[in-house]
Amino acid sequence: MVRIVLVTFGLAAAAALSGCQTVDTTKAGVVGVDRDQRMMVSSDEVNAGAQKAYAQMMAEAQKKGVLDKDAAQLQRIQAITKRLVAQTPTFRDDAAKWPWEVHVISTEEVNAWCMPHGKMAIYTGLIQKLNATDDEIAAVMGHEISHALREHSREQISRQMSTQLGVGVVGALLGIGDLGQSIAGQVANVTLNLPNSRQAETEADRIGIELAARAGFDPNAAISLWEKMGKMAGGNQPPKWLSTHPPHADRIADLRVYAQKVAPLYAAAKGSAAAGK
Ligand SMILES: [Zn+2]
Repeated sequence: MVRIVLVTFGLAAAAALSGCQTVDTTKAGVVGVDRDQRMMVSSDEVNAGAQKAYAQMMAEAQKKGVLDKDAAQLQRIQAITKRLVAQTPTFRDDAAKWPWEVHVISTEEVNAWCMPHGKMAIYTGLIQKLNATDDEIAAVMGHEISHALREHSREQISRQMSTQLGVGVVGALLGIGDLGQSIAGQVANVTLNLPNSRQAETEADRIGIELAARAGFDPNAAISLWEKMGKMAGGNQPPKWLSTHPPHADRIADLRVYAQKVAPLYAAAKGSAAAGK
C-alpha cells in the first residue's frame, strides 16, 4: 500500500517536473471524438514555432516564385477553407480567433497540411493530379484542420520529448533546414515528414467529415478522395500526403459510417443555403 502511494507520488512528481499535463483539446461534436492527451509543451510555444516555420516557408515559396501563382485558384481554396473554419467553434471555442491563413504552393507534390494555430497550405499537385472537386478539397482541408484543432502536432512533439527522439531531417523544398532542433523546426518536421498515428488519423477523419458536412460540403467526398489517393499510391510517384497520413484498411469503412452520421448536418446546411438564395 505504502509502496503504491510512493510510486503514484513519484509519477506525479516526475510529471510535474517535466511539465506534463493531460488535456482534451476539443469538444466531442456529433462524431464523438473524446480522448485525453498528454502534453509536455505548451500550446503557446508550439503556436509560436508554427508561426515562425510557416512565415519562413511562405517567404521561401515567394522567393522561388511558387506562392499563390493563380489568383482564381487561391480564391477557390480560400472560399472553401473559410467555410470550414467557420464551423470550427463546434469543436473548440478559441478556434474562431485563430490566425487562420491558407496559401497555394505550385509543385508536383500531392500534399496539403495545416500547422498548429491554423496555418494551412495546399499544393497544386493535389488539386490537379486528383482533379479534386470542391467537396474533395473540403475533405482534405477539413481533415487537416482537424489535426490542428486536436493539437496532434503538439501531442507528437510531446511524445518525442518523452522518448528523447531527435528531430530528423526537415524538408528541403521550402528551406526550413536551418530551423533545426527549435520548436519551429520540430513543428515543420512533424507537419511535413512524420506519419500521424492511426488514432490521430481516425480523429481527424471523423472531425473533418463533420466540419465538411456542417459547412455544406458532401461528406461522401472523403470516400472518393481516399479512393483517388489509393489509385495514385500504386503509381511511380506515391502522394507525399500518404507518407504523413498512413492509410489503413478499415478507414473507408469508418468514413462511410461517419458520413452517414453527419448526413443530417449536411442536409441542414444545404437546406439553409438554398433557403438563403
Ligand atoms: Zn491526417
